[in-house]
Amino acid sequence: MTHGRTVIRNGLVITAADELHADVLIDGERVVALAATGSPEAQAWRADRTIDATDCYVIPGGVDAHTHMELPFGGTFASDTFETGTRAAAFGGTTTIVDFAVQSVGHSLREGLDAWHAKAQGNCAIDYGFHMIMSDVTEQSLKEMDLLVEEGVTSFKLFMAYPGVFYSDDGRILRAMQRSAGNGGLIMMHAENGIAIDVLVEQALAARHTDPRYHGEVRRELLEAEATHRAIQLARVAGSPLYVVHVSAEQAVAELAQARDLGLNVFGETCPQYLFLSTDNLAEPDFEGAKYVCSTPLRPREHQAALWRGLRTNDLSVVSTDHCPFCFVGQKDLGRGDFSKIPNGLPGVENRMDLLHQAHLDGHISRRRWIELACATPARMFGLYPRKGTIAPGADADIVVFDPHDRYTMSAATHHMNVDYSAYEGRQVTGRARTVLSRGAVVVDGGEYLGHAGHGTFVPRATCAYLN
Ligand SMILES: [Zn+2]
Repeated sequence: MTHGRTVIRNGLVITAADELHADVLIDGERVVALAATGSPEAQAWRADRTIDATDCYVIPGGVDAHTHMELPFGGTFASDTFETGTRAAAFGGTTTIVDFAVQSVGHSLREGLDAWHAKAQGNCAIDYGFHMIMSDVTEQSLKEMDLLVEEGVTSFKLFMAYPGVFYSDDGRILRAMQRSAGNGGLIMMHAENGIAIDVLVEQALAARHTDPRYHGEVRRELLEAEATHRAIQLARVAGSPLYVVHVSAEQAVAELAQARDLGLNVFGETCPQYLFLSTDNLAEPDFEGAKYVCSTPLRPREHQAALWRGLRTNDLSVVSTDHCPFCFVGQKDLGRGDFSKIPNGLPGVENRMDLLHQAHLDGHISRRRWIELACATPARMFGLYPRKGTIAPGADADIVVFDPHDRYTMSAATHHMNVDYSAYEGRQVTGRARTVLSRGAVVVDGGEYLGHAGHGTFVPRATCAYLN
């Protein structure tokens, strides 16, 4: 599909590396040139369409490396389909997601990947890739890892939590890490000691501690830190890199910092919910706390400072959403009277870019760090760079014209995610996407959706660009 030539004029182009007043020329699906605004070169460009970005930022489309559209969990499914979830992502200025295909126990990686391709293909508003969740590490699935790396599914998520569902024991984890050390894959870890947590869950329920806030209490910080430590040591033994997903506890950040100080290929991700929400939300009365049940859990507010510090020091290098929405009515409900039956997950794919921009305004991170955490580093980490994550000649024209002055209130009444509540209801933020391009096509403009299901295509990924 061709979209002719488009020029974006008069904006401040911000990438992880630079901020410059430049015009951007797009031909078809790709960026072909940048030139200083007002320069003879830029003025000479002729285009079929001009987008005026005066007083706006021109930034790479967001890369959300952690989403779960339609994920089966706890007897139900995440409420966003690939169609609704990617449309919401586009509204929020995110133009690539990397979602998780799931291997079920007793089945091959191939079957899981095929099933997720079938869910996504023809339905996405923006481009997408897949990680592979390994629930069953066997001789066969270990061999399949090599094939998946070759076809662009280059990262594998393992769980130290959820015994009986996604859980892998240390031996299986070690085997998968050894395999990835050989094939270039990146192991992503859900680091919580699920065996110990299940004991605490049983004891809490026996003591009639059934409210949502106990979800946060039984999933102890130390059990996140312990699992993070163990995962790091297993990766060292295997000689493999490690990416720890959704880090929430200060003690887990400390484990990552220590590993990184040793020069290890260990990387950490956190999510907006851990930066902006806390156990105060989990303790909201009348079961409202269920809206904030996710794993790892929200932590006491004091942990936020350590997360922001980690984001500045690069001990945490990616902010993804772990978008996994369940409606309050009809889904979160399943856990009334038993917090362990509340489906785990929060909506957020639409909110991430704006919350991180707000974090910049609040003094937590610089403007370029905002782009680094939300676009460039996830693209590099998961083999999408420089096609995604930056604005440069040759890159896909995944570009957001971002109005940094547009103040609005986040709400379920106005968001586009297919879920009946917002985790950020009533929160005022300044700055949001005005015009969003995906591979040269305008998919969102001024609050209106102009894209279509099926525009987004599967993107095969290279291996992680950070390994030394
Ligand atoms: Zn997840």
